[in-house]
Amino acid sequence: MLKRVVAVLAALIVCMSFTGCAKKETKSVSFFAMDTFITISVTGDDAKATLDWAKNLVETNEQKWSATLPDSLISRLNAGEKITPDADTARILERAAQMRDYTLGAFEPAVYPLVRAWGFTTGEYRIPSDSEIEELLGQVLKDSVRRDGGQTYLAGGMIDLGGIAKGMTGDMLLAGFRERGVASALINLGGNVQALGAKPDGSAWKIGIQSPYDDSVIGVVSIKNKCVITSGAYERYFLGEDGQVYGHIISPFTGRPVSNGVVSVSVIADEGAEADALSTALFVMGEHEALDFWRTHEGFDVILLTDSGTLYVTEGIWKDFTERSSLAVKQVCEIKR
Ligand code: ADP
Ligand code: MG
Repeated sequence: MLKRVVAVLAALIVCMSFTGCAKKETKSVSFFAMDTFITISVTGDDAKATLDWAKNLVETNEQKWSATLPDSLISRLNAGEKITPDADTARILERAAQMRDYTLGAFEPAVYPLVRAWGFTTGEYRIPSDSEIEELLGQVLKDSVRRDGGQTYLAGGMIDLGGIAKGMTGDMLLAGFRERGVASALINLGGNVQALGAKPDGSAWKIGIQSPYDDSVIGVVSIKNKCVITSGAYERYFLGEDGQVYGHIISPFTGRPVSNGVVSVSVIADEGAEADALSTALFVMGEHEALDFWRTHEGFDVILLTDSGTLYVTEGIWKDFTERSSLAVKQVCEIKR
């Protein structure tokens, strides 16, 4: 009996020393993909292998979902081909359509002909004529994605997943991290920040909301297991010959870059795909419609900055938000339902 106890104890000690060897470590990787600077950090048993997998996933999704890479699945759809989508591609197309319906068309992947006409795909910016915009608005075809058995094609028009692909990729990264037993991770896909769990020390992640005008932050949000996804006109824009600034989010209703007094919208939610599409949609809606949308829909919070310096923070995130003094902000208002 004593022998058996000793044997079990010895086995236990061996096990413990083994888990001791596979000590949890924090590792990070930074790289450029999806048109933006990406940083991923994970704390886990085999952090290096997890990061290799993560970088590969981001690059694979870009190859499949970019509207500008000529051989991507999306480019092939846009060229009129029938494709056989893999499960992830079928899922993002489905989610994009749902978010379009949910936002009543403010998030609209079919706005791509206009994104292209204004030069946002190439950097050769131009202001299309009124008649060109009219004509291209006719090509913004809601619900043009069709399925035929295992194949998918477009009934017309063109689509762009640029307003949801990073959020969806973030969700896939975090799901993969969970499967690999990672308890703590933070990813930043060019302003799309998504957190798995808390910081390794158990405290909340502190996410800075960037000022649209300089490198400072206008405030800090504390989150665990959530994402903070921001859309702004200040990352990708051009100065037109008419002296106006044109940003890369296009109103599917007017065919023109959004210019409604909103300078940045951050959405805080559980799911990256939802927060990404919503941040784009709320930007299109403008201050009053966006806050009304928040009041009538559940499951997310909003931090919205206007060009006159009003910062709106919805009640669900109010206690987790700390303002920083910034030239961009003149007053902060809590928004209640
Ligand atoms: P970013 O990609 O800079 O983080 P967003 O998530 O707001 O910003 O997505 C903007 C991108 O989405 C644009 O570059 C364009 O490809 C696409 N897009 C522009 N306007 C819309 C829109 N109204 N609905 C859906 N996608 C859009
Ligand atoms: Mg977006």
